[in-house]
Amino acid sequence: MTIVCNTIQQLHNALNNDRFRNKRRGFVPTMGALHAGHTALIEASVKSNDITISSIYVNPSQFNNADDLKNYPHMPEKDLRMLEDAGCDLVFIPSTEEIYPDGIQTLDIHFGTLETVMEGAFRPGHFRGVATIVSRLYDLVKPDEAFFGEKDFQQLAIIRELARRNYPRIKITGIPTIREADGLAMSSRNLLLTPEQRKAAPLIYKALKQGQEFIPHHTPAAVSELITRYIEQSKLLRVEYCIIADPVSLEPVTDWNNRDEVRCCIAVLTEGPRLIDNIAYRVNPD
Ligand code: AMP
Repeated sequence: MTIVCNTIQQLHNALNNDRFRNKRRGFVPTMGALHAGHTALIEASVKSNDITISSIYVNPSQFNNADDLKNYPHMPEKDLRMLEDAGCDLVFIPSTEEIYPDGIQTLDIHFGTLETVMEGAFRPGHFRGVATIVSRLYDLVKPDEAFFGEKDFQQLAIIRELARRNYPRIKITGIPTIREADGLAMSSRNLLLTPEQRKAAPLIYKALKQGQEFIPHHTPAAVSELITRYIEQSKLLRVEYCIIADPVSLEPVTDWNNRDEVRCCIAVLTEGPRLIDNIAYRVNPD
């Protein structure tokens, strides 16, 4: 049975219970509206830890768009069933008063290039909000290992840096992106797509896969341009950015010299939700 805790006190009591005390804790933070991407994280945690704790909290401090926050999908009963089925032991579903008793504030923490490129450039303050909530949750849950999806590739880089600096005892594990049968990266925001937008959206991953074929005969900028044109064949999709970056520093790459693998990261606007995705490219595929 998945135990549900809504307050810090309940969480504290549960974690001091025999079922949880002195056990290796895996932790999977989420914003709910769960899908198979989330359950892949839970299942990975169940495999390598004694107990698995998840959280569902739509963190206002990481939203830079009021409508995005207001429209974020919410389906607690289904989420709970999915957590049970995936083997999650405890889920923490706090209110904003529990998380931010002194009002919504973010840590004064900076990540240099990692937070200024791509998502950071288009969603100012987003990663500071992410670092704030993840730190708060780590302090409450005290996990041994935490799981995050590669779907949010830049977020994973920030999370690794946060752990390196402030939580060196927490092991960070990244999990590959889970996709729909047609290639669309699973996302809670996909629920907000109209049927027409949903039909067009698989073009994003199709274009990303196609990008590998363009290397190394085109510059990184030209590959980004070709991917953008491919996607914008659909009138319903507009590319906000498409950047080929170093997979660790996230610095945009300008040529293929001395590179083995790069990461292409993309954000696509629809008239509804904004979609992000990414893919690894081998620079010298054998
Ligand atoms: P979210 O609920 O969107 O904040 O996501 C919670 C966690 O699930 C984050 O670590 C995400 O990167 C991860 N995640 C979201 N979508 C996917 C996916 N399609 N495949 C793998 N992980 C995902």
